[in-house]
Amino acid sequence: MNAEIIAIGSELLTPYRQDTNSLFLTEKLNELGVEVVFKTIVGDDRKRLTDSARLALSRTDICIFMGGLGPTEDDLTREAVADALELPLRRDPKLVTALEERFASRGWNMSSNNLKQADVITGAVVLPNPNGTAPGQWLAGQFSGKSKIVLLLPGPPHELTHLFEAECMERLRAKLPRKSIAKRVLKIAGMGESQCDARVAPIYSRYTDIQTTILAGPGEIQLHLRKQADSLFAAQERVDQLVHAMEEELGDFVFSDNGDSLEQIVAYYLQMREATLAVAESCTGGMLAERLTSLSGSSRYFLGGAVVYSNELKTDFANVPAEFIRKHGAVSRQVAIALAEGIRNRCGSTLGLAITGIAGPTGGTEEKPVGLVFHALASDTGTEVVEKKYPGDRQRVRRFATQQALDMVRRKLM
Ligand code: AMP
Ligand code: MG
Repeated sequence: MNAEIIAIGSELLTPYRQDTNSLFLTEKLNELGVEVVFKTIVGDDRKRLTDSARLALSRTDICIFMGGLGPTEDDLTREAVADALELPLRRDPKLVTALEERFASRGWNMSSNNLKQADVITGAVVLPNPNGTAPGQWLAGQFSGKSKIVLLLPGPPHELTHLFEAECMERLRAKLPRKSIAKRVLKIAGMGESQCDARVAPIYSRYTDIQTTILAGPGEIQLHLRKQADSLFAAQERVDQLVHAMEEELGDFVFSDNGDSLEQIVAYYLQMREATLAVAESCTGGMLAERLTSLSGSSRYFLGGAVVYSNELKTDFANVPAEFIRKHGAVSRQVAIALAEGIRNRCGSTLGLAITGIAGPTGGTEEKPVGLVFHALASDTGTEVVEKKYPGDRQRVRRFATQQALDMVRRKLM
């Protein structure tokens, strides 16, 4: 079975709001073995909404409409879907009473437009929504000669997620053939997308039954593998085979095969080696510390450090000799090394990690262009330094830099 998700709301067509509900729904549907084959976003316009509903009903087995179930003038989902299905709406007296009680219990006056939230498509089951006033609706039946499932869900994410888990998962499971989807994600650091694909394409192209997707981000490539089969065991076994073959090929460029982030992997290694870490950051302005401390329990291995943006603070907080900065510049191999060693001494940590670079878009020179970053890692066996020239805007350069720095810690400890 396949599905279409239709997100309804004019705000979702502006630059200020994103349709995030469909990401949640896609994950849940995949768990049930359902592929999402279309996603539609449509504004609060009755004609366009009805057209989208007709199209969805003509091309997919499961049509999930979300949003536009509220009491206001622009909430038109019930009406439009009923039109597309050519079914009348009926006002459900139980829902009318529930709405009246809900308003009365809060001491509010209910305006008459709220009553349309009690309108139900004929034949639909009402799905209670304890977190809001608009209930969901479930309709399963024959439409234009084909069996279809139609769902209407409220738009606010906390209402939708609860309602879908509580009311829809089991209902869907009962209607679906037993299919399972096995998934794995490989995460890779220190390699570019094309380089990575060149090495793994000859492998995954032999597994045509597994869908392989490459997602590239700054300093991280993810390989997402999915396979549908009758039994989860069989699907998982096959996906694991491909994972194994790719890991053989990519070796220690793979930092995770179970979804862990690079900061999580670094956390494991630091704890396993009973090591501690301190950081001195310039162009990343705390991003490295932010990533390290995003994990609960990070105080076991992360001591802290300093954001040393000015030359003076590089000297005051990380003991970088002022003459180094004068002679080589703040963005230099020598200063990166001094920062890593200085912060390690200052904090008494096993490892000292430093970043200094030019994030841009201003501040570059011919000799030191935007994107130039030095990363250094100090330990009791010496200090290593890596120089990189990253492409992209300020945020990408900064993300690349933290990724490289964390990867140096991983490689040092593995
Ligand atoms: P509605 O059910 O249309 O009244 O939507 C209420 C609110 O839910 C909207 O203002 C959005 O903030 C949120 N919302 C609606 N649809 C989505 C969606 N697809 N993804 C994330 N948030 C949504
Ligand atoms: Mg809306």
